[in-house]
Amino acid sequence: MTSVDLGDFRITLVRAGRYLWDGGAMFGVVPKTLWSKHRPADDLNRIEAGLNCYVIEDGSRRILVETGIGVRHDERARERIGLAQPPGLRETLSAHGFEPESFDTVINTHLHWDHVGGNTVDEGGRALPALPNARYIAQRGELDHARERNPRDAVSYRPVNYEPLIEAGRFEIMEGDGPVAPGVEVRVAKGHNRDMTVVVVRSKGQTWCHLADLVMYSAQVTPTWTSGFDLFPLEAIDNKTRILGQAVAENWWCSFAHDPEVAFAKIEAREGKWRIHQSLA
Ligand SMILES: [Zn+2]
Repeated sequence: MTSVDLGDFRITLVRAGRYLWDGGAMFGVVPKTLWSKHRPADDLNRIEAGLNCYVIEDGSRRILVETGIGVRHDERARERIGLAQPPGLRETLSAHGFEPESFDTVINTHLHWDHVGGNTVDEGGRALPALPNARYIAQRGELDHARERNPRDAVSYRPVNYEPLIEAGRFEIMEGDGPVAPGVEVRVAKGHNRDMTVVVVRSKGQTWCHLADLVMYSAQVTPTWTSGFDLFPLEAIDNKTRILGQAVAENWWCSFAHDPEVAFAKIEAREGKWRIHQSLA
């Protein structure tokens, strides 16, 4: 288990499995000759994607960021994305020493299937909150967009991952930036989609930022290395430039939603470029 201690907080990576996805889709307009040096592809051009979830603790609170891909995948889908049937989120958390009952908050950076797949569990023919004592936080605009079923990305949204939480009164809708708990906040960072948030924890002069899908892989810290999924690539570049610029200037720990190797990283500016200069696996 990999953790960083950040002032009053401890932040721990929990990987809720891995899957494979098309490398060209992950790296957008970046040529394969460049990205494949960082993330080698298999014979179907797929690269490994981690399902990186983070536990934020300060002794009184326990917050989960992202819930992974879940278990609702048929055999055909699992084969296509190279997914061994992962244990459920609850089992994964317990195996890491985090009992599901102990979480008070879940932050959904956005509602894409591979970030909220563990939000609910099927029990007795119903979908129920997987973390029974937690409130689940998401953005109003993201929920509206998910419900619009836009042809471009409707496939990324599975209502079972959020509608049952709304029905159960467990979904807490935020509009824009704001605190989730003392020292913990979400900030909207348009790019990957309109309302995705990054998560920022600050304590005693130190900062951690979970960049979610604004920067899926540590290899994408160069602002123009955006993903093919991004609905707003120009805003993605602007927001990466702004947020990573602050991360470099203030020596933040950063995390990426899908890097299968890097749990935490610090970024530096060298010879006019940004690169990872310290990382924890
Ligand atoms: Zn996404």
